[in-house]
Amino acid sequence: MCVFCKIVNKEIPADIVYEDEKYMAFKDINPKAPIHILIIPKEHIEKLADINDTNKGIIGDMTVVANKVAKQLGIDKTGYRIVINNGPDAGQEVYHIHMHLLGGKKLLFAT
Ligand code: AMP
Ligand code: ZN
Repeated sequence: MCVFCKIVNKEIPADIVYEDEKYMAFKDINPKAPIHILIIPKEHIEKLADINDTNKGIIGDMTVVANKVAKQLGIDKTGYRIVINNGPDAGQEVYHIHMHLLGGKKLLFAT
């Protein structure tokens, strides 16, 4: 089972900032910005390239969660960046699709 599935199953701890039936958001263990949250579907989907016409709603849902969390953490007015790394050249480390929500400072480069 992948590390994010273990977080979903509460087998390993995470600093969870949002959870509903299908999605979860928690603090990145190695933050690249003052606010660095990962948003995941509870369903194990490896990567963005596995998104298709059947499951594309997940990306919209994750965006809604990211916006909610941004508001909750007080960066909705100052701005934030959403990043999804897909595959080796993008530096994807965890093969369970996730959005990075980055904010809390002026962001110069993508994570
Ligand atoms: P990516 O390179 O897009 O696959 O990003 C994976 C992210 O997951 C990295 O920013 C890691 O710091 C983060 N990460 C890995 N393991 C954990 C964990 N157990 N809890 C929270 N964040 C994690
Ligand atoms: Zn998984």
